[in-house]
Amino acid sequence: MEFLKDRGETIDLGARGSLIITAGGWKSYAKEEIDCESFLSLCGEYLGLRNRMKIRDAFNMVELNTVIFECERGVKHIPPWLVVAALDPENLSPSDPEEMGLLAFFDPLPTSYPGFILSDDFGQVSNMPCMCGRAGPVLQFCRRVKMLEDRGCALKMERGTVVVPDTR
Ligand SMILES: [Zn+2]
Repeated sequence: MEFLKDRGETIDLGARGSLIITAGGWKSYAKEEIDCESFLSLCGEYLGLRNRMKIRDAFNMVELNTVIFECERGVKHIPPWLVVAALDPENLSPSDPEEMGLLAFFDPLPTSYPGFILSDDFGQVSNMPCMCGRAGPVLQFCRRVKMLEDRGCALKMERGTVVVPDTR
């Protein structure tokens, strides 16, 4: 979109029935980060896509074999095979339901290593129903934690601090 803006051009993906899927974080581009509403506005202005239902974000980590996609309502639905827990960053105990916490992922799909990941992302896992009608928990990713190394399960096991979520 910046390229189009610099050239003073636009394209009309909306007329072609297109769908935009975004994934990944800002990482080293954090200083250039824009909020969701600004991004959607630019998609309308430069890409001709103004229908929010046609612009979906996906959450993924390289350590996971699962991608969490937004539904047409812009809500990230956690698939049934993936357990996501929000943990208290002070003691890594499970946060209260609907509370923010350090996100931990329990993904059974990786076969080359244990898919238990304590991320450096803060988020919320909610069981509130979504207007789209899909069932199950949803993820609200909020922000990346600063000053924390990425820690996968193997490293956590070495340190003897693996946390298993209460799935009751
Ligand atoms: Zn939904």
